[in-house]
Amino acid sequence: MRRTGYSIKSLVSPNIRNLKAYSAKEIPCKVKLDANESPYSAFSVQRSAFSVEKIFQTLNRYPDSEAKALKKIISKNLRLTPENILFGNGSDELIYYLITVFGGPVLYPVPTFSMYGIISQALGEKRIEVPLDDEFDLDTDRILPLIKKEKPGIIFLSSPNNPTGNCFSADRILKIVESTSLVVIDEAYQPFSSEKGFLPMLNDYKNLVILRTLSKIGFAGLRVGFMIADREIINEVNKVRLPFNINSLSQAAAAALLQNTHTIKLHMGLITSERERLLNELWKLRGIKPYPSEANFILFKVKNSDKIYCRLLKKGVLVRNMRGTVNECLRVTVGTKKENNIFIKALKEVMK
Ligand code: PMP
Repeated sequence: MRRTGYSIKSLVSPNIRNLKAYSAKEIPCKVKLDANESPYSAFSVQRSAFSVEKIFQTLNRYPDSEAKALKKIISKNLRLTPENILFGNGSDELIYYLITVFGGPVLYPVPTFSMYGIISQALGEKRIEVPLDDEFDLDTDRILPLIKKEKPGIIFLSSPNNPTGNCFSADRILKIVESTSLVVIDEAYQPFSSEKGFLPMLNDYKNLVILRTLSKIGFAGLRVGFMIADREIINEVNKVRLPFNINSLSQAAAAALLQNTHTIKLHMGLITSERERLLNELWKLRGIKPYPSEANFILFKVKNSDKIYCRLLKKGVLVRNMRGTVNECLRVTVGTKKENNIFIKALKEVMK
């Protein structure tokens, strides 16, 4: 095909043509508090548990397609049956698979995690976005009639919700789970929450899927997420899963690192206590309205949020500008005590 007189765009399927790629640009900074990652990376692993060299020697072979060793550890930690677990290359990938399998319309509250919308659009599925109420809770008065009318193939509820940080009321979630759509409760931030989450409800509801990830508890670089659901759902999703979606290094590293339950719990404790301290500090600042959080980040309202974002970045502190999602708001990930102090000091200065 000659280069002139031809547009690649005309070959692209219409639903992709107008899609914007998820932006995960690396922005140089000193303190990175924009991506809801864990600030802790220093995990010690017993030598016998993980040998990079040993794994390197097996890299001529495909990985275990079912990630059996990892599945065993996670099912033991969470007291689940291995047959009810399916891995994704990050929970992002599972969102892709779930929408592929169950189709649209795809219903979710807004603001929420952007990938539900991006993936629905990529797959050409109709999106039904229902605004959260004034307390950032589910507006069931609008959602329930919409479920009846539109019969969504799948509903996504991120609880705790990204970017608002709150858990949705359990009774409202349950009202939605009582429907006949597939309901996915995305519990990416559950380890930071004081609520108990919905794993215990799996036995009662056949249409319920829980999404979890290792990304927020210290292993974002491994790209390991998983879903927990009825075996029938797992079997259907498994039909579209790429056979070797979790590479050998990630499987082995995750299996070894997850043995460190004590360190992981310790880090979760540090993050949640720092979150409360950060929240108190933010409350004290005039012109800032922080929202309570059950996750590892805090959303806060501030006038001239674009300016404040840029001024913080000039001082080396990177937060997430929520422009276009929750206007006049910034989202800060809870870092180490030192990082949080740098953030607070910088914020005080730029607010002057
Ligand atoms: N769900 C929610 C609510 C998230 O905020 C994120 C990441 N920001 C994900 C899923 C995706 O996580 P993973 O790294 O497992 O793809």
